[in-house]
Amino acid sequence: MSATRATAHSPRPRSRSAVIDVASVTKTYAMGDVAVHALRGVSLRIERGDLVAVMGSSGSGKSTLMNILGCLDAPSRGRYLLDGVDVRAFDDDELADIRNRKIGFVFQSFNLVPRTRTLANVELPLAYAGVARGERRRRALAALETVGMGDRLEHLPSELSGGQQQRVAIARAIVTNPPLLLADEPTGNLDSHSTHDVLDLFSDLNASGRTIVLITHEPDVAARAKRVVRLADGRVVEDRRVAAVRARAPRERAA
Ligand code: ADP
Ligand code: MG
Repeated sequence: MSATRATAHSPRPRSRSAVIDVASVTKTYAMGDVAVHALRGVSLRIERGDLVAVMGSSGSGKSTLMNILGCLDAPSRGRYLLDGVDVRAFDDDELADIRNRKIGFVFQSFNLVPRTRTLANVELPLAYAGVARGERRRRALAALETVGMGDRLEHLPSELSGGQQQRVAIARAIVTNPPLLLADEPTGNLDSHSTHDVLDLFSDLNASGRTIVLITHEPDVAARAKRVVRLADGRVVEDRRVAAVRARAPRERAA
């Protein structure tokens, strides 16, 4: 089936429940005369409501795949349908809009805006989306309550522990109510206590219907996933279902 001309206006192809549908994706970086094959043909469908751990050693292509899933980078070849929509046809503005509406990102290094208070950090994606001030505040407060950071609204990132910063970053990722959360080594900079807090939070968010893809090289972290996908040298070498997906739409999708 060719999906080359699929656009936002096309009917959704195949299963409605696939949030991510990647087919034969390759990514090749040109380094001078040398081609680096970061992804060598990855096909992956991720259903709504799944909690997927992507594992693999350093250099196996995990971040490259995540950047493609997050529409931060384009594949060299192959196709990517995000929530049923082929993202190839989109220009940079449209991709930024898609990212803002459909995806929440969580990074290893938290990436909070420095010298900016907790509440303002979490309101930021809503400001980009043009949400009015009062509504911004209401939703940021709700997101911060969800992650247990409702009592740190006026703190700067430098005044928070790593685990607290990551919880604020997760609040920022969910404040737009995206159907998909992407996390690249979200516990990589955390102690074991904070790691458990953050994993509990991901489990809760998943239980309330969010699809989550998280990259990790820690077996403890992967053990909390419903499915484990392992990459080696740019290919999927293992794809293991650990627990059933119980799909449910996130609340107030169109808010
Ligand atoms: P992982 O996240 O699993 O450690 P990456 O996806 O970051 O792996 O990298 C996969 C391969 O692609 C590595 O060999 C890496 O050196 C290479 N690579 C990643 N990004 C770039 C880039 N921007 N330019 C050139 N090579 C890259
Ligand atoms: Mg990486």
